[in-house]
Formats: sequence, C-alpha cells, structure tokens
Amino acid sequence: MNPYKFEFSEAFAMEMDAKDSLAHFRNEFLFPKVDGQEALYFCGNSLGLQPKSVREYLNKELENWADLAVDGHFHGEDAWYYARKKSKPALAEIVGAHEHEVVAMNNLSVNLHLLMVSFYRPTPQRFKIIVEAGAFPSDQYMLETQVKFHGLNPEEVIVELKPRPGEHILRTEDILAEIKKQGDCLAMVNMAGLQYYTGQLFDMKSITEAAHEVGAMAGFDLAHAVGNAPLSLHDWGVDFATWCSYKYLNSGPGNISGIFVHEKYAERPDLPRFAGWWGHDEGQRFLMEKGFIPMYGADGWQLANSDVLGLAAHQASLDIFQRAGMKNLRAKSEKLTAYLEYLIREISGKSGVLEIITPENPEERGCQLSLHIHRGGKEVFDEWYSHGVVGDWRNPNVIRLAPTPLYNSYLDVFRFGKILEQSLKKFA
Ligand SMILES: *Cc1c(COP(=O)(O)O)cnc(C)c1O
Repeated sequence: MNPYKFEFSEAFAMEMDAKDSLAHFRNEFLFPKVDGQEALYFCGNSLGLQPKSVREYLNKELENWADLAVDGHFHGEDAWYYARKKSKPALAEIVGAHEHEVVAMNNLSVNLHLLMVSFYRPTPQRFKIIVEAGAFPSDQYMLETQVKFHGLNPEEVIVELKPRPGEHILRTEDILAEIKKQGDCLAMVNMAGLQYYTGQLFDMKSITEAAHEVGAMAGFDLAHAVGNAPLSLHDWGVDFATWCSYKYLNSGPGNISGIFVHEKYAERPDLPRFAGWWGHDEGQRFLMEKGFIPMYGADGWQLANSDVLGLAAHQASLDIFQRAGMKNLRAKSEKLTAYLEYLIREISGKSGVLEIITPENPEERGCQLSLHIHRGGKEVFDEWYSHGVVGDWRNPNVIRLAPTPLYNSYLDVFRFGKILEQSLKKFA
C-alpha cells in the first residue's frame, strides 16, 4: 500500500519538504543535540520542543513583575487577573469547543480528580467505570483512589477493556458492546482520547453517544490527543476532558493543563465541586464574602489564581498553532506519519525485528507510531539513540516515534529510515 507514491530517497524527502506549506515552522523551534549533533527529534508526544519565542513571552511577564509588582494584577491589557482568557481562543479551536467550555489551569492529574468530583457520582445502582486496560499509570492511580474515596472497591467498580487475544488495539464495536452490557450500572467512561502506549485514537464520538444512551458520563484524558488529533468535544457532547500542554502543545516541562466542561454544565451551581476563590464569580471575588458562586462555564472549576509565567510560555506555542491551523497540521500529520510507516514497512518488513502496533487507518491514530520490538529489546532503542534518534522506550517492549507536523520534516523521517536500515544488520 503506497497511495502517496512515497520513495525511500533523500531527493524524494527533500521534494516533499519543498512542497510543504508548513515546513517553515520548523525554524521557530529549538532542537536538542545528541553527542553534539542536532537530534532527529520524534518525541513531541512526551515533551514538545521549545518555541524560540518562549523567551520573549516570558521576558514580558518578568518585566511586568519587575516594573509593576502587585499592580500587575490589574494593570493594562495584560492584567494577570484575566490571564486565563488569552489562551481560550486557541484552546477552543484545538479541542473543538466554545471558549467558555475551556480553561487552562493546574496539572492534568489534579484536574482529572477535580472533574471526577463533579462527574463521578456513584450510587448503589450506578457506580461502574470503564477504562482501557493499560491506561497511563497516573490515570490508573486516579481512578483507583477516586473509587476508594467513595468507599468502594476498585475491583468491583473498574471495568478494563482489553484487546481480543492476539490483537494489540481495541475494536470500537467491543468498546460499545461493553458500555451497553454495563448499562444502568455504568456511571462513567473515562478513557484516553489517544492511547499513550499503542497510539490508538479512540472513536470518542461513538463512545460518548453509547455512554449517554445508558445514562453514563463520558470523560476523556486528552494528553496525547490535544494538538495532535482532530477534536470536536462540543459537538460530540463529551461531558468533560482534560489534557496537558507540554506534549504536542510545546508549553514546557510540567507546564499548565487545560480542562473542557461541556456547555450543558455551564450553569450548574448544584454540581458538587471542590472550589477555590478563582472559580468564584469574578465580579465579587474581592468582596471576600462567604458563599461560593461558581463562574459560568469551565472557569467555575478553577481553584487558584493563574500561573502567569506558565501561561506565558503556553501562549508562545498556542500563537504558533493559531498561525499554522489545526486542519493544516492534521493534513500534514497524516502524510508524514504515513511516510514513516511506509519506510518502516519497506525497510524492516520481513526482518522480524519489529511490528507497528498502531492502527493503519489514519482516522484511528495521531502522528505517533508504536513499534513492538520482537528482537533486540531496548538495545534497538539504544542503537538508534546513538545515531541521534530521540524517541522513547516504554516497558515492556515498545518504541514510540512521533513525527510532529509542526517541526518535523520528511527529511527527518528519511534519515531515520537510513538509521533503521543500518541497525537491522545488527538485529535482524
Ligand atoms: C502525560 C500523561 C499524564 C501526565 O499527567 P501530569 O499530571 O501532567 O503529570 C497523564 N495521563 C496521560 C494519559 C498522559 O499521557
């Protein structure tokens, strides 16, 4: 299968880059070095690269802090009191939401807990949670401890979806069948949007519909989906979601997360929540009075005043996303990942060293390909790394490579192909 008529040649890769209208964005990022050589960076799924503009965005806030100190909270256009607002247009576009449905705050693991306080409300009849087996560890711990917090037993509550024997990825029909089977025992589906280990992009629209059909909530952890896969959270009717911004959104290590809460909950002061002053009605916040009045929309889930420096770094990359456009990025992403897939199949096809476990269908994946290593184990990863390939190794036996459309080129992918070809002499 080679619908794009790809070729394993440097000239072909360079021609693809020359035709790529997004190619120039690469120059807006800083690439790390491995042994003094610029890395082939395929790890945007774990930590996005630093936009060159980050320093300027941070410096501006450092200057405001130096010049204005406490007055910075209310001074001028960039008053810190309203800092959360700036990121809303870009975030709303990236996740397919209205601006009042999203807000940047806290970290992902904190946010998922806060959202479950509102949206996981087990009753003696309806208490089960569906999640994919092998979910990201933080998510596993979050679910386990939320369940215990309600005095329930995780083993009786959490239903893990496993692929069929001999298969690596979940079939949508099996996910939907399990939701139906749990029926009115099901309180919530809480899955990844895009699975970190396999790279599978779930059919969030169908999953949400199926959950609602049985009267359950649908929430997603979008850590690997945001800025990577097409999202229409509002139209799909997703109840809630959260993500981190330091992976495909390039905001810097450990930086601020974001949440989505569907418009249908925008004016629901009755929903239980763990509140703080920043979620309280903005106009009355400084009256310092008793009685929590949640802000309209996602803002009403904020707790604490905004991390202004974090937001500034976040904004540098969001502004790049706005200029590039998610649709354009996705179009390039499908092609670039298909090129990587083509080269891997061409070069290592029958070697028996590795196998791509990420779905072949572009609609069921983002830019990441997960390679199941059958021979050589982590030595394969180390060999590639010694030639400058930065991907990541995930136990027990997967290498993840994510060519990101914002800063990776076809030439990067071709160069990886040459390194793969060489390495097979050792492991095949
Ligand atoms: C990266 C990632 C996290 C990280 O959580 P933090 O709170 O940002 O440390 C959580 N869940 C998933 C699925 C992830 O991929």
